[in-house]
Amino acid sequence: MHKTVYLSLGSNMGAKVTNIKNAVEAIGAIEGIEVIKTSSLYATEPWGKKDQEGFINAAVEIVTSLTPGQLLERLQEIEIKMGRQPSEKWGPRIIDIDILLFGDEVLESRKLTVPHPHMRNRLFVLIPLEEINSAIRFPDDGMDIKEVLARVIDREGNQGITKI
Ligand code: ATP
Ligand code: CA
Ligand code: CA
Repeated sequence: MHKTVYLSLGSNMGAKVTNIKNAVEAIGAIEGIEVIKTSSLYATEPWGKKDQEGFINAAVEIVTSLTPGQLLERLQEIEIKMGRQPSEKWGPRIIDIDILLFGDEVLESRKLTVPHPHMRNRLFVLIPLEEINSAIRFPDDGMDIKEVLARVIDREGNQGITKI
């Protein structure tokens, strides 16, 4: 079965734009994954842990025949190959690749929670995601991405995000 999956990419160390582009290329090179769409790149302020460099973020739509667990493993291999070092929670990183949505699956295990637990509060995730598919609905509560996005902007402004 092929599933449509949405990923979030972020980098705030080194050549950030190149890191994102290299990661998208590496994702596309995995057997069982086809990259369908990549969002614009966005310059964003750090979220959660603010005393660090700004990020470049993007969202990617893929189609995959991998299981969620296999996909997570492949993505973590890319992070490590690109030089990601273990660091404090939400600390600086060369590349971070998160699974946002996996078809209409709702998953909660020690290793993987989908939809991604923080995505509804993160404009650096919601804005690029809405750019590539404005018709997304969350499989758990049925909310529309546009509604979720509007709510966060209402509450917090645009969290310092600019398209580059
Ligand atoms: P956040 O999850 O808040 O964005 P982070 O991306 O900095 O934080 P990491 O250190 O990259 O967190 O990942 C910690 C663990 O999160 C991973 O080892 C993975 O098992 C787990 N995880 C749970 N759900 C997901 C998901 N949807 N996508 C990616 N990793 C996930
Ligand atoms: Ca993350
Ligand atoms: Ca991550």
